[in-house]
Amino acid sequence: MFYHVKELQFNARVSRPDPRFATLLLEQFGGPNGELKACMQYFMQAFAAKMPYPDKYDLLMDIATEEISHLEIVGATIQMLLNGINGELKNFSETSRIHDFVGKKEAKDEFIQKTMINPQFFILTGGGPRLTDSQGVPWAGSYVNSNGDLTVDLRSDIAAESRAKIVYENLLQFTEDPHVIETLGFLMTREIAHMQMFEAALDTIQPNAPPGIHQGDPRFSNLYFNLSNGHKVTGPWNEGISTDLGETWQYVEDPESYIRETHGLEDREISGTTRTKESTREKDENLSKIRSSEVLNAVRDSEMHWSDYLI
Ligand code: MN
Ligand code: MN
Repeated sequence: MFYHVKELQFNARVSRPDPRFATLLLEQFGGPNGELKACMQYFMQAFAAKMPYPDKYDLLMDIATEEISHLEIVGATIQMLLNGINGELKNFSETSRIHDFVGKKEAKDEFIQKTMINPQFFILTGGGPRLTDSQGVPWAGSYVNSNGDLTVDLRSDIAAESRAKIVYENLLQFTEDPHVIETLGFLMTREIAHMQMFEAALDTIQPNAPPGIHQGDPRFSNLYFNLSNGHKVTGPWNEGISTDLGETWQYVEDPESYIRETHGLEDREISGTTRTKESTREKDENLSKIRSSEVLNAVRDSEMHWSDYLI
């Protein structure tokens, strides 16, 4: 159940109208890294998380609810940045400020072009936000990544928060309004906070790499294919020990010959790892039991209910 509190989470203020910045800010309203995407992503992920991980359900729903509170702040800020447009649109007389503002027909077209104002503010929403990105592309459910495997979902969330953070950082360079700067600073900082919450939550699920249950084939998990010409570039991604599995990277200098020699990798022998076919199968079986019993133990045989009501 949701409950609306009339006050905003952060005291959003605007010094003066700025329809140009309102257009840019739409990116965080209905864009692919915006607040509605974040809200819907955590909300959708929460359903599958509830049974095996009630603590993560709580976390996801708390952050989803904070994100819709951010959506409210962004929408309110856009509305204030467009302050007066709706009233002026209703004024057809020569005294209309929009007339002064945008002038006659040719001047109006030029104004919209020059200042990058979203024309939809004038013709569709009457000077309010619309659920689009800054280019007018409508919000889409396909922005939402929800997988049913919490380790995959939490990794998507860490990536989503880092993208949201950088969009705010970029937006901050296009406004000089001290009040708007304060609000964007708050919104940006909360994404930094969320990112760490998701990192910590991922860490509590062990093992979490590779994601899911099925372990990779030890013949291929530590191969690096040199698939470009020029001089060899090395780093911890192709030499030394791999991050999650702790295997030694095997650098394939000449992949074309190697693929031929091994008959399309069929004859490749395991090397640089202690993992074997047997150990991998054993891990598959153990992890299958653990993960499926986590879910099945949480599911009741009898009548189901989602909530316990405590007095
Ligand atoms: Mn947010
Ligand atoms: Mn966030």
